[in-house]
Amino acid sequence: MCNVEVMVEQPQYASVYEEPALTSEPPITRIDIAHLIRDPSKSTQIWEYPINQQDEIQRAYINLGPYQPLMSEYPLTGEKHPRWFQSYWFKSYPWLEYSKKNIVFCFLCYLFSSKPSGKPGSNTFTIKGFNCWKKVNDGERCAFLTHMGKGPNSAHRFATRCLEILKNQSCHIKKVVKRQTIQEIQNNWLRIKASIDIVCWLTFQACAFRGHDECPQSENRGNFLEMKELLASYNEQVGALVLGNAPQSAKYTSHQIQKEILHVFVRNV
Ligand SMILES: [Zn+2]
Repeated sequence: MCNVEVMVEQPQYASVYEEPALTSEPPITRIDIAHLIRDPSKSTQIWEYPINQQDEIQRAYINLGPYQPLMSEYPLTGEKHPRWFQSYWFKSYPWLEYSKKNIVFCFLCYLFSSKPSGKPGSNTFTIKGFNCWKKVNDGERCAFLTHMGKGPNSAHRFATRCLEILKNQSCHIKKVVKRQTIQEIQNNWLRIKASIDIVCWLTFQACAFRGHDECPQSENRGNFLEMKELLASYNEQVGALVLGNAPQSAKYTSHQIQKEILHVFVRNV
């Protein structure tokens, strides 16, 4: 006889810094995502985590992938016709997670299911766990296929779509960040190039760099800054990036920067 073990446990918070308070309010604690529990029978449901960290925890679990320990032998289940879990099922059903309690779960449904509705069987692959091995590979009635559902609106198919959307969003964000980074590098290069050309010109013309009053309201801010303003007025691209249009951390106009550029020239002459 096969057993479907009921693994309903009190919510355990995985690696939290503090014990959750026993109140109806969700605990406001930060979860240490570096130490998430891997065994699916012991892990906290996503919807039990603090709402502001659920997204981060989902992504952390996605990076880890489903928990699929490969063992030389899995424990037997049943007395009359003992059967055991087969590791090749991981390949046929990549969403499977195996618990050391000899029950399996669905990684996708774990990630994206909401609080159980109470409908019988709806939480078998998320909270209870499944180990009725004789129902696996039973043609169309295979329990794993039944869990996935035939139509596009099954909970499992919905979870699969959620994962695809999340992955696509991550790729898009990464691309945008990369594009912004490359653009920022090019902008900084143009800013420092203008400063280098000015230092070079002033040095070879034996002109002083600094002015007596270099504040933005000054009528004469000194040769270096005045020259930069002149370059900016002749070139829209430079004008859009230097002086007042440059970020505070990348102006490349300070006395220190001027000195450093000059020292590079000195070392190379
Ligand atoms: Zn599922």
